[in-house]
Amino acid sequence: MDLSPFGKGRIYLATAAGTLFCICVALFVDSFNFASMPPDRLMRAIMINVFLPAALAGPPIYFFMRKLRDLRVAHDRLATLASTDPLTGVLNRGALTALIEQKLASDDSASVRGALLILDADNFKSINDSYGHEQGDIALKLITDAARSVLRKTDLIGRIGGEEFCVFLPGATQLTADAVGERIRHAVSVVPFLPGDRLHRLSVSVGGAVFDRRLPLSDLLRVADQQLYAAKQNGRNRVSVSPIVHYESVPAAAA
Ligand code: GH3
Ligand code: MG
Ligand code: MG
Repeated sequence: MDLSPFGKGRIYLATAAGTLFCICVALFVDSFNFASMPPDRLMRAIMINVFLPAALAGPPIYFFMRKLRDLRVAHDRLATLASTDPLTGVLNRGALTALIEQKLASDDSASVRGALLILDADNFKSINDSYGHEQGDIALKLITDAARSVLRKTDLIGRIGGEEFCVFLPGATQLTADAVGERIRHAVSVVPFLPGDRLHRLSVSVGGAVFDRRLPLSDLLRVADQQLYAAKQNGRNRVSVSPIVHYESVPAAAA
């Protein structure tokens, strides 16, 4: 029986338990009269105490539990919709930053060590210009799937802008961040994107910041963005990840 919050098992179990409770209460209340009843009336009273609560309480409890489950399903769907980017299916900017900030503030080791990567699709405007916006949307989905395919379950990915994505790697070292950045870059570069039946090579540039102590998200984003800019300047389709080691809080003007 499926006893999960979304399973029907809970409805049946709660209905059975609720009905049984009502029968027990009815029997208990009436039990004070049982001693004075002749056997045939006693039998009838017991039957009434069983069938009446079952008939009167069972259906409303079932109905109430069903409505409760429907509400839970609807709430869950709304929460997913509110936190998901509708085109790519990954987290949207608000949900991603909230989750990263929550992780950075928590007490586990991932809050003091890890990496943040920003991916930006290269020359994406030309894809829209050459093949149309619909094909651009398909390319964005393919890029997302490629990036997702190389991440662990504990990593986070979200779309933070038009053709920009952010990946959070809890607990990652410089070595891991470099490797994941390169895996993403490579996975995107071999995606079979075929607008008009001709292969068009997609690519992303990746900028990253590695941290080994508690830092605000704004500092991680700033350094990752600077590295992304460097990757673009150096010819695109490359990865540039830097550790944040030299300053308490990264100055806005730092290059
Ligand atoms: P660069 O390599 O410097 O990043 O060049 P770029 O062309 O990727 O960068 P630019 O900022 O000039 O253009 C980004 C393009 O991404 C422009 C915009 O139309 C496109 N874009 C943004 N969001 C979407 C979307 O949801 N769907 C589609 N199809 N295109 C989008
Ligand atoms: Mg961009
Ligand atoms: Mg771009």
